[in-house]
Amino acid sequence: MALGAVLFDCDGVLVDSEIVGLEDSAEFLRSKGFSWSPEDLIRLFTGKRDDRFKAELLDAYAGLLGRAPSTEEANCLYEGLIEARRANRHKMLPVTGAVEMMAAVAAAGVPRAVASSSQQVHLDSKIDRFGFRPYVGEHVYSAQYVEHGKPAPDIFLSAAERLGVAPDSCIVIEDSPFGVEAGVAAGMQVWGFIGGGHCLEGHAKRLLAAGALRIHVSHFALQQELFSVIKEH
Ligand SMILES: [Mg+2]
Repeated sequence: MALGAVLFDCDGVLVDSEIVGLEDSAEFLRSKGFSWSPEDLIRLFTGKRDDRFKAELLDAYAGLLGRAPSTEEANCLYEGLIEARRANRHKMLPVTGAVEMMAAVAAAGVPRAVASSSQQVHLDSKIDRFGFRPYVGEHVYSAQYVEHGKPAPDIFLSAAERLGVAPDSCIVIEDSPFGVEAGVAAGMQVWGFIGGGHCLEGHAKRLLAAGALRIHVSHFALQQELFSVIKEH
């Protein structure tokens, strides 16, 4: 393929955020009657935009209560869960080797962007805080501004358009099945990444089943593979 751009997911690829606050989240949910483990939370919600995450959470809550939750109950559940994660934000770290990988891709002059389900304000804060900004500049795109979140292709198509490259010339790096599906739906080549702390046994299989072409266990491996594609051109 002629490489037009590399599009990176943020959470679970660049920043090891998916694992942060999981225990507290599961504990909070247990206090509300749920019996989800941290692993269940990863499987159910990783890579989803807020609106979808919230809708699925409230559906499950309704199932648990045997009726629709009141607005107050719904807000209390959702806000409480967000708070459980937010309280752990200081524990967030970049995925090992992610900044170095991005710097190398930037030095090679390959067009690149971050395309994430995270809200723009949180996304920008992670990109700045962990040192990615010099290598991605303003090409940091949130699914907040497109019609449909992942697994719809909107965010990746929008990122390709902003970079001025054809979708089928893009490689997407994703850690969640929904993100992989989104990249495939955009007509892009998707590489699965399982170097995040939340990637448990069977994760690679799930990414391959969602349409990932290959799997990388670390940024070192990803960087090598990216450069073998870059050198072909
Ligand atoms: Mg992700």
